[in-house]
Amino acid sequence: MTPTTTPGLALRLALRGDLLDFTGAPEWGATESPVVRFRPDHWLLIEGGRIVGAQAEAPDSSWPRHDHSGQLILPGFIDTHVHSPQLDVIASYGTELLDWLDTYTFPAEQRYAEPAEAEAGAARFLDALLAHGTTSAVVFPTVHKASTEALFAAAQARGMRLITGKVLMDRNAPDGLRDDVTQAERDCVDLIDRWHGTGRLSYAVTVRFAPTSTPAQLAMAGALCRADESLYMHTHLAENRAEVQWVRELFPEARSYLDVYARAGLLHRRSVLAHGIWLDDEDRALLCRCGAQIAHSPSSNLFLGSGLFGWRAAERAGVHVSMATDVGGGTSLCQLCSLQDAYKVQALAGERLTAWKGLHAATLGAAESLLLADEIGSLEPGRMADVCVWDWASGPVARRRLSVARDLHEKVFAWMTLGDERNLVATYVAGLRVPV
Ligand SMILES: [Zn+2]
Repeated sequence: MTPTTTPGLALRLALRGDLLDFTGAPEWGATESPVVRFRPDHWLLIEGGRIVGAQAEAPDSSWPRHDHSGQLILPGFIDTHVHSPQLDVIASYGTELLDWLDTYTFPAEQRYAEPAEAEAGAARFLDALLAHGTTSAVVFPTVHKASTEALFAAAQARGMRLITGKVLMDRNAPDGLRDDVTQAERDCVDLIDRWHGTGRLSYAVTVRFAPTSTPAQLAMAGALCRADESLYMHTHLAENRAEVQWVRELFPEARSYLDVYARAGLLHRRSVLAHGIWLDDEDRALLCRCGAQIAHSPSSNLFLGSGLFGWRAAERAGVHVSMATDVGGGTSLCQLCSLQDAYKVQALAGERLTAWKGLHAATLGAAESLLLADEIGSLEPGRMADVCVWDWASGPVARRRLSVARDLHEKVFAWMTLGDERNLVATYVAGLRVPV
C-alpha cells in the first residue's frame, strides 16, 4: 500500500546529527558490516513528510532546520508486538503467563468495554510509544470493537504507521472478554472496510492465542486472511511450557502448536507470531516457507519466566525475526531495553547479539518482515520521515563509557546497552516533531 501524506505536514525540514541506519541485513556476530550506514554530522532532508536526501554540507538558508549535532538520528523504532491496554498491568508481581492473564491482564482488558476508557487508553498508549522512540507498531487492543476503533483513530490523528485489529477470543476467557464467531466476523469485516489501507493504517486478523479461540473461530480468521492477502495476522505462539501443553490437549490432532495455526490457514507472509520460544526444526522450516515472522519479546520472556528464544536457530532456518516489547508482559516500551535483554538472552545461550543485528531487527529488519520497507525502517530517500533523535549518553557513567569507545560498534553497543527513553531527544512522525 502506498502511504499517503496528510495535509498540514511541514513542507521542508533539515535535521542535523549523526545518521545511523541499515542498507541490508547484518550477518550474525559481525561487528563490522558493509550494511551499516553511519553518516556523522550530516543533514537529513525532509520534504512533504518524506526523507528526500542526506548530505554533509548544510542546505541553503531556505530550509527550516533543527540542529541536533552531536546527537544520534535513527529511523523510529518498530515494535512488532505490544498490547495497548496493558500499560495498567506492566510490572505485576508473581505469575507466569496463564495466571498472569487471569490475575492481571483480563481484568484490565475488561475495562476497555467502556468506549471512553478505550479512547483515553489508546491516546495514552500511542503517546507513550512516541515518548519511547517507537513510531510504528503491531498492536493488540482488546476483544471490543470500540477499543480497536479508538486505537485506529488515535493513530490516524498522530499520523502513525499502525497495524492492529480486534482481538478474537470466544472461549477460555472471562465474561465481557468473549465474542462469538458470527459477531466477531461482522466486527472484523466492518473494521477492515473502515480502516484497512486508510492513511498509514493496516488491519491484522488478531487471534489472541490458540487456547482462547474455538476451531470454528480459527477457521473464520483463516478465511478472512484468504479473502484478502493484504491483511496481516497477529497472534501468540509457544511462549510458555504450560501454554504449549494446554494447546496439545485442546488440539490433539495438530502436530505442534504452530500446526494449529497452519491448519486454520493463518500462516502467510504477513503473519506476526509473538515469542516462538518452544519450537522444533519442523516448525522453523514451516515459518520460513510461509515467510511469517517471530516478534521476539525478550523482556517479557525473562519477566514472565517463559523461556529463552533461539534466535540463532531461527536465523539459520531463514525465519524473519523482529523486536518487540510485549508490554505489559515486557517491562518497558523502549526498544533499547528489549535489545539489552535480547543480548542477555543470547549470552545465556553462548551467542553474541551485535548492536547491528539488534538495531536492524528493530528498524529495517522489522520493516522488511512487515513488507513495509518502502515506507519505514530506514533513512533512505522516499521513506516517511519517522525518525528519532537520541543523546549518545545520559549520565556520567554512560558519558565516560562512550568517550573511551574505540570504534563505531563499541560506541553504538554501549549506547544500546546503557540507553533508554531518557536518552530520547525528539521524535518526528512524517517529518513533524511530536511532543514527547
Ligand atoms: Zn503479547
